[in-house]
Amino acid sequence: MSGIIKLSERLSYIKACEEPLSADVGIVLGDRYLWVFDVGAVKANAEYIRSFKKPVICVLSHFHQDHIGEIESVDAEKIYLGANTQKYVGQGEAVTDDLYFDDGVKIHIFPLPSSHAKGSIGLEADGYAFLGDGTYSCSKNRKIFYNATLLKDEINRLRSLEAKYFLLSHDEKFVFSRDEVISELDKIYSLRQKDSPYIFLQSNVTD
Ligand SMILES: [Zn+2]
Repeated sequence: MSGIIKLSERLSYIKACEEPLSADVGIVLGDRYLWVFDVGAVKANAEYIRSFKKPVICVLSHFHQDHIGEIESVDAEKIYLGANTQKYVGQGEAVTDDLYFDDGVKIHIFPLPSSHAKGSIGLEADGYAFLGDGTYSCSKNRKIFYNATLLKDEINRLRSLEAKYFLLSHDEKFVFSRDEVISELDKIYSLRQKDSPYIFLQSNVTD
């Protein structure tokens, strides 16, 4: 399969695509399990995941279709997801607190306060943190914005992680240093206005 990028001995990801819209899929090779962060929305992902011939644990970042679309084709032994995502998937264990696993590689699954999607979660392993779309804004009614309180909580959460690199879905670059992501979010947080719960950003939508 094309579009597989190796990050370390244990970590790799399948690149996102746009037609159909399908998010990046993180792969962590444990001793016992294959840990899969998001499954995307193309069948080929499930075939690739099966080719490892290992029991699969899926971690779903948030409820959007381009991240969870092919969950039925991946025969997961266990699914971790946010409570809101659980409503869409109809199965899996809701992550309400930090979870730690040792599967030859140390894995940390954590709730991620996010303006983009309620009930976002992330996964860190081997110095990298998969964040899905969690650091992105919300867009509604042609407005692009962050919830100031959630953003503050998110920045604190990100600072508490050990990972040196943050992995952001859909972005061609995908691998960012933690500092550049946190400083970008700090910059956005500094734009907040007194008495407004939201931080509105310039939208590119002109019509
Ligand atoms: Zn999304």
